[in-house]
Amino acid sequence: MARFEDTTAIVTGGGSGIGRNTAQTLADGGATVVVADLDRDGGEATVDAIEDETDGEATFVEVDVTNGDDVEKMVDTAVSEYGGLDVAVNNAGVGGQLEPTAELSADDWQMVIDVNLTGVWRCLRAEIDAMLEDGGGAIVNTASILGRVGTEATPAYTASKHGVVGLTKVAALDYATDDIRVNAVCPGYIETPMLEEAGLYDDEETVENLREQHPQGRLGEPQEIADAIVWLCSDEASFATGEAVAIDGGYLSR
Ligand code: NAD
Repeated sequence: MARFEDTTAIVTGGGSGIGRNTAQTLADGGATVVVADLDRDGGEATVDAIEDETDGEATFVEVDVTNGDDVEKMVDTAVSEYGGLDVAVNNAGVGGQLEPTAELSADDWQMVIDVNLTGVWRCLRAEIDAMLEDGGGAIVNTASILGRVGTEATPAYTASKHGVVGLTKVAALDYATDDIRVNAVCPGYIETPMLEEAGLYDDEETVENLREQHPQGRLGEPQEIADAIVWLCSDEASFATGEAVAIDGGYLSR
């Protein structure tokens, strides 16, 4: 039997990077995947890749995780079209501006917190309601190494990801006896479009500096995070809840 047979999954931020690999890996394991993203082109490309490369089924839903109605529509799609919700990966996120704490604009602070932290809470609220109706499920939130430690000039991002780790623990405790597991992953720096958008891929010196921060001497690949997320979503992780798992080439061990 396939690992995710009879499983309906949602992946937010499924149109790029870590989310795309996660959606593909879940579909590869037999899940039906609701690919949710603000970016229609990216989301539809993920659905096409799933249909071309796996036996799995997927559908795209255009969702802005800062919009409560969009988030409700996303969960309703899973429930009404596929009969329930078993797995959710709350992964949509933005990097925001790289500015020292006192120089960050209030607008940028608000935008990053609204997507990365409040967005995860909005998704959790809708997903948990559906899972309570359906006898349980597994949720993974994408945090970051910056959910565990700080780095310069990332006040909103680091605060948002610390918030995601805290929220993960509370949600895990609140629903531990309802058969709903909630975990987080804390990736190191991963080669996705987010790094380019943050200007961290502009020159070889900056990239080399990032590589050196990881004891393994390299950046991570999206699939290395997807594999950890998918394990946490699976029955193999049945006794894991409330955990924030670092997949970071040793970054947090320094
Ligand atoms: P990415 O930019 O490739 O993907 C992010 C996706 O989120 C995009 O498809 C984007 O359209 C979507 N998105 C952004 N805002 C949204 C919104 N309001 N509503 C719905 N979708 C939205 O980046 P990625 O690296 O794959 O990032 C995925 C997650 O991993 C993020 O939460 C990010 O913070 C986290 N992360 C990334 C790294 C890294 O180095 N790349 C490290 C640690 C954590």
